[in-house]
Amino acid sequence: MKIAVLPGDGIGTEIVAEAIKVLAVLDLPFEMETALVGGVAYDAHGHPLPEATLKLAKEADAVLFGAVGDWKYDKLERQFRPEQAILGLRKNLGLFANFRPAICYEQLVDASSLKPEVISGLDILIIRELTGDIYFGQPRGRRIAPDGAYAGAEEAFDTMRYARPEIERIAHVAFQAARKRSKRVTSVDKANVLETFQFWKDVVTEVGQQYPDVELDHMYVDNAAMQLVRAPKKFDVIVTGNMFGDILSDEAAMLTGSIGMLPSASLNASNQGLYEPSHGSAPDIAGQGIANPLATILSAAMMLRFSLNQPQAADRIESAVKDVLASGLRTADIWSSGATKVGTREMGDAVVAAITTKTTTKG
Ligand code: NAD
Repeated sequence: MKIAVLPGDGIGTEIVAEAIKVLAVLDLPFEMETALVGGVAYDAHGHPLPEATLKLAKEADAVLFGAVGDWKYDKLERQFRPEQAILGLRKNLGLFANFRPAICYEQLVDASSLKPEVISGLDILIIRELTGDIYFGQPRGRRIAPDGAYAGAEEAFDTMRYARPEIERIAHVAFQAARKRSKRVTSVDKANVLETFQFWKDVVTEVGQQYPDVELDHMYVDNAAMQLVRAPKKFDVIVTGNMFGDILSDEAAMLTGSIGMLPSASLNASNQGLYEPSHGSAPDIAGQGIANPLATILSAAMMLRFSLNQPQAADRIESAVKDVLASGLRTADIWSSGATKVGTREMGDAVVAAITTKTTTKG
């Protein structure tokens, strides 16, 4: 099981170190190799996704990714910005399906800004298409000012586009995921205004006919944004395009109280995947040892389940995280009075201890 470890920038190195510590106690034959990505890669090699890093990622069964980005790179040309590394990895590995579960842990019900009865027991899965939509349409806009910026420009535009196979494959992924859950898919679109999303809706409906056991409904994105805060538990699997998915998955992330808790997976057709926390590099808290490593640790669990075919090891991590939360340990982002505040490393150590205690008890 080859894992490419790409910690990246900011808190990336701190949180990935904890995930690796957790993977190490599982006693599985992992081969892990680390490489630079993002701003640190730009500083060292002049590119956020150096050839060697891309090669390592391509040859691995899975990529464990931290986060990239820092405000100090904001002035760089777009192609050299740290975030371009993620787009490059998605493109080169053919990652088209982004899975973002939003689960509310009972112990963290109070961390949400929503009422406990709205949020308690929440367990939804947002599946976002990653390769099409307005992010990859042509042309992408025109920079007409002499320095390449928009100063003095009269217009900018992006085109929205989806091809049938792109919609079909993400729809299949969603229906298959729903079959393993409560067999409900909500396809989110803007078919009332956008041709692209009328097409999306029609193709998803066609694919849905192959899954008569799964209930399909359609919802406009504005309504979906509203329903996610009004009654999020009504959803099970949400499938949507690249831009709507980007926005809705962040909204869903906040339902649970902290972005520091939410893992994500991006998969290609052969289940090779990139696993990363849903949050960014948090430059505001980098280097302070206070970042929540749980989203990354839970991403490692997703990696074991989806790409490495080790569902029991994934269960062990997830159950250890629940035990640690039940014991009252909290990083600052999820802390509330009465709980014990811990740093990044202590949280990782606690998950390791919870796994090893269970192993010893079983043994
Ligand atoms: P962010 O997610 O990095 O941070 C938003 C807020 O959440 C900050 O206050 C931060 O301190 C907090 N936060 C995030 N993760 C946390 C954790 N694990 N524990 C505790 N608190 C946490 O988003 P941002 O500030 O908008 O972006 C910072 C940089 O990250 C930017 O350069 C952005 O482009 C980049 N970014 C990268 C990714 C990625 O690597 N996939 C995703 C989003 C943003």
